[in-house]
Amino acid sequence: MAPVTNPATGVVTGQVALASVDDARRVIDAAAAAFPAWRDTSLTKRTQVLFRFRELLNERKGELAEIITSEHGKVVSDALGEVSRGQEVVEFACGIPHLLKGGYTENASTKVDVYSLRQPLGPVGIISPFNFPAMVPMWFFPIAIACGNTVVLKPSEKDPSASLWIANLWKEAGLPAGVFNVLHGDKTAVDELLTNPKIKSVSFVGSTPIAQYVYATGTAAGKRVQALGGAKNHAVILPDADLDLAADAMVNAGFGSAGERCMAISAAVAVGPIADDLVAKIAERAATITTGDGTTDADMGPLVTAAHRDKVAGYIDAGETAGAKVVLDGRQVTPNGQADGFWLGPTLLDNVTPDMSVYTDEIFGPVLSVLRVDTYDQALELINSNPYGNGTAIFTNDGGAARRFQNEVEVGMVGINVPIPVPMAYYSFGGWKASLFGDSHAHGIDGVNFFTRQKAITARWLDPSSRATGGINLGFPTN
Ligand code: NAD
Repeated sequence: MAPVTNPATGVVTGQVALASVDDARRVIDAAAAAFPAWRDTSLTKRTQVLFRFRELLNERKGELAEIITSEHGKVVSDALGEVSRGQEVVEFACGIPHLLKGGYTENASTKVDVYSLRQPLGPVGIISPFNFPAMVPMWFFPIAIACGNTVVLKPSEKDPSASLWIANLWKEAGLPAGVFNVLHGDKTAVDELLTNPKIKSVSFVGSTPIAQYVYATGTAAGKRVQALGGAKNHAVILPDADLDLAADAMVNAGFGSAGERCMAISAAVAVGPIADDLVAKIAERAATITTGDGTTDADMGPLVTAAHRDKVAGYIDAGETAGAKVVLDGRQVTPNGQADGFWLGPTLLDNVTPDMSVYTDEIFGPVLSVLRVDTYDQALELINSNPYGNGTAIFTNDGGAARRFQNEVEVGMVGINVPIPVPMAYYSFGGWKASLFGDSHAHGIDGVNFFTRQKAITARWLDPSSRATGGINLGFPTN
């Protein structure tokens, strides 16, 4: 058992059971038993279930958002936002009959046709992080299920309840038992998913060291694996940028969801003479952010655990000691809520240099660092030499500069005057370098490819007249 805590109050609100190997095997067996019937269920019936799930989710997403806020801490509007982004993947998956269509070539050779099919893999594993307990699983399971797979979801033990609510919704939507399964647990459950031969693929999202471990272990066991890791996202602000737009964007992207987003902007790279103005504009806006219980009208909630809050505050201490200027100090925040919550307010650090731990490490909290460089090339070099490559953004009014950046930057998702360039469901989500291990991104066509195997069929059918007139004898009986 592990405790589940409300981060805004510090109160333990529940206990989550952590699966043993036997527990995990029982869940995997249930997914394996449900697979043959689900893979043979017609596309019409499968999509009917998906459409019902989408309608129920749309009607009742407020319930899910409240659950997310109570265990993760993010404000309800952010929680609703995450459910809506997940719902977009459900909507994408509703179009699965079109997405699964194969190719057909008539008469590739005389009376020989060639065609291709996409077939499901079998039971698939999904392992998700604490920061998006609804959206991240929804990057994967709607498409996996639509393709005819069965799913075992291992959510984060820090906020496990959203996944159970989702499982009940599937039941209401008419999904047969065993097609969508929730496996609560820790490393024991993860290791069973990675090594059990009945699991055919693993989709992981979490920190880079665990992503690397999951990729290495899962592929060594012969599985298809996509493992999305951590991030350190930069925004470059060029001297010709609209500084008000850029400052608004830095505040939203740096402090939204208390910075616990893999697409959060953590480093604002100010190019040339605009740095003082930019820092002043960000500081002015960030100072108005209220920190408090996510169920109130606060702008920003607490961090997920006391340990995480302390870790993030430690990075601020280290940055200050190393010479960064603390322009806005979240360690001093007075929360709108209970004193025992895991509070840390928005923090703005200026004059951060690439050697400081506040820059080198993924912080995953409401801390925005400003780095000052003289040229575009220095900004690009900073980003491209960073080990992570999840998201980035450039702020400029020069289309040529933006176009050059999108071409030269070694990052998987790029925003142009857009701070958090999360792709729509019909594109694919994924970073480069230490932000993703594997070759498939999440959702979009990558998702359909990941959750299906292709089969190419070469067929020769003789028409009856040619057989009757003594055509080629293929060895089949003629009547
Ligand atoms: P985490 O790596 O601690 O946990 C992720 C999952 O792995 C959880 O289900 C957890 O139970 C499991 N896990 C933890 N330790 C394990 C171990 N030793 N062996 C096997 N399994 C283990 O990540 P987190 O703290 O829950 O989430 C935050 C991290 O996720 C950040 O690094 C963030 O950048 C990353 N993230 C990345 C993306 C992306 O798209 N690249 C999206 C969201 C979050």
